[in-house]
Amino acid sequence: MPAELAISLDTWNLYLGRSRSTVALRCSPDGRIREHNACAARLFGQREPLADRKLTDYLRRADQIPLDLDMLGASAEHNSLALIASPSGKLLYGFFFAEDDGVLLLADVLGEGDEVAEQLGMLTNEISDIGRELRQRNRELEEANRKITELSRTDPLTGLANRRRFFERLDPLLALARRRDLPLCLVMADLDRFKQINDTHGHEAGDEVLCAFADLLRRECRREDLPCRFGGEEFLVLLPYTRADEGLVLAERIRSRFAATRHLDGNVTVTASFGLADARPEDTAQTFVARADQAMYLAKAGGRNCTVTV
Ligand code: GH3
Ligand code: MG
Ligand code: MG
Repeated sequence: MPAELAISLDTWNLYLGRSRSTVALRCSPDGRIREHNACAARLFGQREPLADRKLTDYLRRADQIPLDLDMLGASAEHNSLALIASPSGKLLYGFFFAEDDGVLLLADVLGEGDEVAEQLGMLTNEISDIGRELRQRNRELEEANRKITELSRTDPLTGLANRRRFFERLDPLLALARRRDLPLCLVMADLDRFKQINDTHGHEAGDEVLCAFADLLRRECRREDLPCRFGGEEFLVLLPYTRADEGLVLAERIRSRFAATRHLDGNVTVTASFGLADARPEDTAQTFVARADQAMYLAKAGGRNCTVTV
């Protein structure tokens, strides 16, 4: 068949006027039928002209989604559709064309055998229902996955980031600091003689103190900092774009505020020891953390409740 068949307008009009299987009709923007051929009237079971009747009284989408003429006329993507005619239930395949003032529809009547048409329509509906359900399930699954990921990177007691999230953030930040010669600082904090708190006041009281320390870290850190519970009564704060002298100011502020806090109905004070390291070009995550740990142990050895920088 030639790509383009030269057919005169008169011939087209004659064909559309007499065809028993091609519906041609024109609608105003509000979806009312303005003009139509004989096939349309026959299909919709009407003897008198259909003018001014609503198109949606006679045609619906096979997939049950409401027929939206605005969308059909406006978008090239949506201009062909499977339709079902009322009252015959016949299936049509239609093309919607946007016009200056409304929409033109040319549609082939496909389902002369009503049963086939009905089954096809039902299958289309089923597929569209399944599609909708699948999309909903996928959204729920994505949400559940997001929650699982979030939980697997959060410490359940304090709500701070855990060790896993810490290393996820640290690796790219170390690489960036090395490449761009940016400062990167790490503070390690360990609560002093914490075993005694547990032994004297009970494990729950110990938990309360851990949460108070976590809250203080959250309050004192900037948005780009990463406070995290490294394990037990050990905490880390990763400080991007921060030099050691700036990190020391923050560590000292946290240390002195924590030491001044009264816990457990105002009866108990707890202190923490802090170690501080700044990233070196040759550092791996392990060597960087190990240096902050070493500094923290020097603070313990130096009498606790103090900050040491290495
Ligand atoms: P130091 O000043 O040398 O750090 O002494 P410390 O007692 O803090 O150190 P040690 O390592 O001997 O004890 C740490 C304690 O922290 C022991 C452990 O029971 C307690 N701990 C660890 N995790 C938790 C927790 O989740 N909740 C509570 N309540 N205690 C915890
Ligand atoms: Mg301790
Ligand atoms: Mg410890």
